This record gives sequence, structure tokens and C-alpha cells, in this order.
Amino acid sequence: MDLKAEPKIDVNTIDLKSIGTQIDFGEFQRKILKEIEYKLAILTDGVSIEEEAMEGVGSLWKENINWLFDYSTDREVKPGTVPPEDCRLPMGTTVMINYNARSPHHIRKENGQLILEKNGRFLTTVEWLERPKYYSKLTSDGTPMQKVAPLFGDCDVCVNFVNRCMYFKTNDQCLFCNMNPTAEWHKEEVAARKLAKSVGEVVKAAFEEGINWHIVLTSGTLPANKVTELAVPYVEAIRVELGWDTVPGFLNPTVVRDLSEVDRVYKAGLRGLGHNLEVWHPDAFKMICPGKHKTIGRERWIEGLKYAVSVFGRGNVYSNLLMGLEPKESFLEGVQAQAEMGVFTPCHPWMVLPGSKLEGYRAPQVETMVELTSRAVDIMEKYLPEVFTPEIWSSGHTAGCDRGNLLCAQWQEIRRRTGFTLVQPNDVGKGRLVYIDRDHLIVSSPYVQIGKTA
Ligand code: SF4
Repeated sequence: MDLKAEPKIDVNTIDLKSIGTQIDFGEFQRKILKEIEYKLAILTDGVSIEEEAMEGVGSLWKENINWLFDYSTDREVKPGTVPPEDCRLPMGTTVMINYNARSPHHIRKENGQLILEKNGRFLTTVEWLERPKYYSKLTSDGTPMQKVAPLFGDCDVCVNFVNRCMYFKTNDQCLFCNMNPTAEWHKEEVAARKLAKSVGEVVKAAFEEGINWHIVLTSGTLPANKVTELAVPYVEAIRVELGWDTVPGFLNPTVVRDLSEVDRVYKAGLRGLGHNLEVWHPDAFKMICPGKHKTIGRERWIEGLKYAVSVFGRGNVYSNLLMGLEPKESFLEGVQAQAEMGVFTPCHPWMVLPGSKLEGYRAPQVETMVELTSRAVDIMEKYLPEVFTPEIWSSGHTAGCDRGNLLCAQWQEIRRRTGFTLVQPNDVGKGRLVYIDRDHLIVSSPYVQIGKTA
């Protein structure tokens, strides 16, 4: 198979009905706004799921794999029952399932259709995401591919190459984080060792089944430059396996000791980098991220972000800020300062994770998360307009895209304003995407030309 072949699908020749339904822009915007609310509600309040609705999860539909954090407020599902990883709303918004048996939100099946309710009132229909075919395959060393690199949403192929963070050893972990407890609780779900060659094989298998993926390379914090040293062979193995010059997606390390490591990652072929500051205010950073504060420090962190922009370019570097762990104005000041540096801010609602130091607290209010997401996008529209271009919006370089990033809603808010709709090869024939017109359909990676940009 020639992976660098000419476009597989030309947008001008495809039957648009085979990928979805056309809709007018006003209706599109109203519906996306509702989906932003539902997404942030499921993330923060969680959702309970009736047993019948979980039928087919793990065979037809993608099951939850705790490859990074355990995101469930309530870890007690019925023994033998695996909840789904994610769901898709009718406009295409993908959402992480935060399982919470006590949530006012509930998913159940009615006449064969999954529906989302709040306190018994209908909100919307939902669907689980198809289980990728590669989940049933093995790598050449005999490891199940899903244990090497699971799929997040429709298109983020995720590799957490060391799922332990050194800050837990000194009790300096970020207060919201549960990486090490997650690794202990779910040992059987992920491979202890992920060979670079195996990762190359998984992404090739994903590509061959029509998933236009972005790679997500992440790890717990390790000393000095260890994370980038470990990451580079994965990027190179992907390039070799697919015969590509560059790799879409990103690496998400803490700021490394030797900044020339950033150049090395870029030269290896990766085109996105993230250094998550998590909170903007200096006092909040010291309290919420004690390990990062003690070993790197906020000033050095900002220096690292600026350096990364000088290498990767504006809009190809990101830094998460969590909504709900500092005053609103401080969060927005951070979004603006980062945008002015050329750094994109994924706006994550703080999810109260089990096993974190903040377990047992209440999640932030949905209305506030919707407001902050919208105000943050206003700021980025003004100070970082690059992320409104189809190239960056669809690249997956900045914490995924609107179909891959299950954990925040700023991509949906940008989509609401631009009308962009991502299409990938395995959408054809499904008839489920919603779009405005042919000119708003855009490619989801530089490697398979399946659409044209407006
Ligand atoms: S740096 Fe913080 S958020 Fe990242 S894995 Fe370590 S404790 Fe968790």
C-alpha cells in the first residue's frame, strides 16, 4: 500500500449524502452551542448509564481504557461491565464518559436509540463510538494493539509511554491528578512496555482502516530530558512505518532541562508540542502544581513555551489551563498572555478525579465553564487568529481537534464560529456528519486529501 498516494477521496466527487446531512448556518450554530453545554455537563457532572444501553460495548462499541487518567467520578460500575470510553452527539461532538451513578444526567436506550436525559427530561440522542478494527489486532511482538495505543474520540491515537509521574514519589503531584493511582488500578488495560516499532504498527493499522489520526505522545514527568529522549524514537518509528516526512499530533512533556531537546523533537518530524502550565496565577501554580513549581518554576516554564513557539510556530504549541481552579479573571489573563506568545490554550474544565488530592470536591458549574470557554475563544480569535485557519484547526497539533479531544469544548466553540466540519475516510457511507456546505468540509490531516478548504 502506498501511503503517500494521491488523494483517496475527492470532495468534489463524493456523494455528500453518504457522509451526512446539510444544515443552515444559524441552526448549525444553535445546535453546536447546545452540544457544548451537554459536553461540559457530562465532563463535570458525569453521567449514569443503564445496563441495557451498554450492550455491545467492547465488541461493536469502543470500551473505556484508562491509559492516562481514570476520569470516572464513580469507579463502581457493575462487576463485569465496562463502560464506553466516549459518546458522539448528533452534530459530531465527541465527549469523554465520566461515569457517575449519582449524576442527574442519564443515558438509556429507548426503541433501540440511545438518549441523554437530565432528571428524566430528554436532552438529545447520543451514540457510542465504533470500536476500531485495530483493537482486535496484535503487534508483531504479540501485544494487543489497544494496549499500546488506544483511540480517543474519532482520531487521537494515544501513547502514554511511561504512565507514572515522578512527583507522586515526593507527594508533589499536581492536586487534580491521578496518574499513578490510575496506573495501579488498571494495570491490565495498558501494555507495560510500548515498543517504538509497535506504535508504528498501530498507527499504520489505524490509517489503513480510514482513521485520519493525530498522535498523542505523553508521559508522566521524568527527570531532566528523559521524556523527550524516550519520545523521539516513537516519532521516528512512525515516520519509518508510514514513509512520511512529518507526523501530525503532539508531544506533551513538562519543560525539559535542555531546550535544544525541543529542536530534536521537531527535527524528528513531530509538528506539535504542549507544556501544560495548568493554572496561570503564580500563587495558584505554586499550590496546585507543587512538583512543577519546585523542579522547574513558572518563569522557566514560560521561557520553555516561548522557545517552543520559536521552533514549532505560533498555534502549534499549547498549554492547558484548567477552568475552576483559579479566579475567572486570572484564567482569562492566562489565556490572553499565552495567545500573545503564540500559545493555544485548551480550556479544560476541572474534573474531580478519583485518587487525586482534590477527590470529594464538587465540580465547577457547567454555565461557568460554557461562559469561560466562550470568553477564552474570543481572546484567541483576537490574539491568536492562526487557530481559526483550517490548517491548524484540523492539524491535531494543539491538543487534538474537535473530533479527537474529548475533554474540552473550545474546538466546538471555534467550529460554531467557523462552520468547519472535519471529514475522514471512514466517514464515507455513514451518512451521519452534519455540515453547512461543501466549502466548509475540510481535511483532517495533510496526508489524505479528502476535502477542500473554504
Ligand atoms: S506533572 Fe502533574 S499532571 Fe502531569 S502527570 Fe505529573 S502530577 Fe500529573
